[in-house]
Amino acid sequence: MWDWQGKELKAKVLYSAKGLATQILISGEADYFLLDCGDGTTRDLSSTGLPWVDKLLAILITHDHPDHTGGIFSLLTFLRLRGRKRELFILTPDGNLTERVRFYRDLIFGGFPYEVEVKVVEEHLRFRFQDLVVQPFKAIHREKTEVFGTGGFKKAVGYLLCGKSGEKIAYTGDTGWYPGIDCYFKGVDLALIEATFDFPKGSERHLTVEQAKDLGKLSKHAILIHR
Ligand SMILES: [Zn+2]
Repeated sequence: MWDWQGKELKAKVLYSAKGLATQILISGEADYFLLDCGDGTTRDLSSTGLPWVDKLLAILITHDHPDHTGGIFSLLTFLRLRGRKRELFILTPDGNLTERVRFYRDLIFGGFPYEVEVKVVEEHLRFRFQDLVVQPFKAIHREKTEVFGTGGFKKAVGYLLCGKSGEKIAYTGDTGWYPGIDCYFKGVDLALIEATFDFPKGSERHLTVEQAKDLGKLSKHAILIHR
């Protein structure tokens, strides 16, 4: 069922489509990690048949656009229903989410039977879990909509994940191309790369397929997503 299996780490793109949702499951030696948590994440995780309710340790959010975060509250509620006790971590570059998770937890009678710790990440500030070291890196991202035009820059990151054996996975999140982005993808075992645009439509929003392929060539294996 995995889309990629290394010696230690595994990855499954649960779902990824631009503007709709993106969620990717990463398995370490013992724990699971989610890269982004778009709409339908709980459904997608449940349909794997994996014991994710207890094994999921952290959700790594790249930016606070709904197609990357829209599934968080239904997931938190499902874990509550299933009686999870284990602490859950949410990493995000946008402190906004801290307040929203707190607000949502307080809305629910009795709160959650497990702790949720939201950690606001900064570029290059590493987080160490038992199975993974997580390093956020720079992403450049803004949206453009039919009605409101081009929006402001989001607080956005990509993630470089390093397993105990040194195996590496790099994930762009949503980002335009910038000089230096390639350094995070050189030699990694798996690259998960957004490839939103068929043709260039402004470098501050997304990568083109061609740019994504160029990044992918630097890695040992690449999966293009967010199409
Ligand atoms: Zn986005």
